[in-house]
Amino acid sequence: MTTNLSLDELTNQALLDQFGDLVQQDHHHTADLLQHIDAIDQRQLWAQRGHPSMFDLCVSRYHMSESTAGKRIGAARTARRFPILFEMVARGEIHLSGVHRLKAHLTPENHEQVLAQAKHKTIREIDELVARLAPRPDVPSTLRKLPQPSQSLRAAPQLTAVPLGAPQPTTVQPVAPAPAPSSVPVPRPSPEPEPLAPGRYKLQVTLSADARGQLKQLQDLLVHQLPSRDPAAIVERALGVLLSQVLRKKAGITDKPRARKLTINHEKRATPAALRREVWRRDEARCAFVGEDGHRCNETRGLEFAHLEPWGKGGKHSAGNLALRCPAHNAFEADRDYGASHMAD
Ligand SMILES: [Zn+2]
Repeated sequence: MTTNLSLDELTNQALLDQFGDLVQQDHHHTADLLQHIDAIDQRQLWAQRGHPSMFDLCVSRYHMSESTAGKRIGAARTARRFPILFEMVARGEIHLSGVHRLKAHLTPENHEQVLAQAKHKTIREIDELVARLAPRPDVPSTLRKLPQPSQSLRAAPQLTAVPLGAPQPTTVQPVAPAPAPSSVPVPRPSPEPEPLAPGRYKLQVTLSADARGQLKQLQDLLVHQLPSRDPAAIVERALGVLLSQVLRKKAGITDKPRARKLTINHEKRATPAALRREVWRRDEARCAFVGEDGHRCNETRGLEFAHLEPWGKGGKHSAGNLALRCPAHNAFEADRDYGASHMAD
């Protein structure tokens, strides 16, 4: 699609509409590309044109990155087995990263149901789906000193915080329908705990010497309650303690809120704990900003209590005038209320 209008001249709606069109075209192009890769692969044109593999053809002749080529070839070969994937990709119902995660777990029997569940899912949600399809056992807790990687990095003990005494995980090897070139490992960019099985996650962390000492102290102190001394059990308890501490400070949430009569000092900037508690619960611990088209933000990171009518402009501390906001929407509203120049100060 070409347009003579520069993007700066478009209205907000037209810019978003045009973007939506481009995304849709991108899905169609991707599905087209997969079908071409499949056809070229079937005819083995890569061999005829002097390449050792389809992967090499894509990378050295068509200058795709290794990861792009790997994902596309893998998806094309998976779609050959399950042609419904060509349509799903064209409609934007599944991304190639999702296909990459799922391909080893699709069978003629389960693929319709699994792909229906994978529709419009994020990579993280697809990882959860994979953990249900192919549960892996808990990995054992380990504590070991890491090798010194370089002079600038101090070696620290490494802790894998999962239950002790569990069997070693079996590595799930993707069942590739064709030779290896497509199985280029895709790095996990996120430090999120990895789903192993329903309700079970693997977390791997590196500790400082101080934290390692604290862990040991806790293992010693709690030995009667936790005879296994399992670091995973300590981490689980520590998380609970830290979370209630943070929630108490942030949102005024306690087991026993004081039954004191609420007096609100509107002169003070600080929002009373009882109000924070009420707003936190009402907004369900998520950003409550609603966009022009009715889409609610729902971000859970970095939440702040924001005054709808700004406190600095006489807005009151009241549940009706308070809402949870993520950093982006806090800044967006402050910008709207005070102007960008104020924020830059
Ligand atoms: Zn938000």
